[in-house]
Amino acid sequence: MKIFKDKHKLREEILDKNISFIPTMGGLHKGHIYLIKKSKKYKKKTLVSIFVNPKQFNKKSDFKSYPRNNRRDIKILKDLNVNYLYIPSIKDIYDFKPKYKIYLHKFSEKLCGKYRKGHFKGVINVMNRLIEIIKPKDIFMGKKDYQQLFLVNKFISKYKIKSKIIECNTVREKNGVACSSRNFLLNANDIKIASKIYQFINKIKKNFENYNLKFLKKELLKLGAKRVDYIENYNVKKNFKKSKRYSKNCKIFISYYIRNIRLIDNI
Ligand code: AMP
Repeated sequence: MKIFKDKHKLREEILDKNISFIPTMGGLHKGHIYLIKKSKKYKKKTLVSIFVNPKQFNKKSDFKSYPRNNRRDIKILKDLNVNYLYIPSIKDIYDFKPKYKIYLHKFSEKLCGKYRKGHFKGVINVMNRLIEIIKPKDIFMGKKDYQQLFLVNKFISKYKIKSKIIECNTVREKNGVACSSRNFLLNANDIKIASKIYQFINKIKKNFENYNLKFLKKELLKLGAKRVDYIENYNVKKNFKKSKRYSKNCKIFISYYIRNIRLIDNI
């Protein structure tokens, strides 16, 4: 695996190659590994980036405590036979003016956009730059971060960028909890709480219209969440129309805190 810290050197290497790209913030887990394995099936060169993007964190403390473990991540990527790893500095990403302006579809104001001010602007900013540097054929992204996936897709179609997003299903632990780098911050009791919350949402989703949101929030608090940002049901096949009833085209989006750790999922 060739490791690059400098975008110019990376560009030289990949200039005439078809690249499958998996952007990550490191703290690799089974979800990332699934994306990488899927990308390797496309028989293009696989490039993974690890960049904890400061601009998408609305709290400095959250940026600081975000799980980082480059040595472990590099070992995982080598074992997976990844071709290239791009692990840039903040300067390498932000010291140039990109060709495209940040475009945020209005759905960026909902869900996480409402509770994490500037988050999606930071996400599109970094994706715009990574896409310009790498010019990937395909970009593998997880439905675990459905809103992010949707907004990156809207950005790409707005400018008719040639990269294609390959949407990948959410990988979960046996207890139902969605794999996430933030899970490294959870202790055994926290994981039990997260699992109970997943089972609860899974149980009530079919009769979602029978519950009021206050009740659902209270139930999550009873199960051990410290705070609940949102529980909302959207039809993801209908351009994210909010829906009272749950159907096979719907997903229930949740965001909650266990202690000071913010988790998101869609079920
Ligand atoms: P992150 O490192 O959290 O920025 O995630 C990098 C990519 O991995 C994003 O496209 C995520 O949606 C995806 N991802 C994160 N967790 C999972 C998961 N549990 N299953 C599938 N994809 C995931």
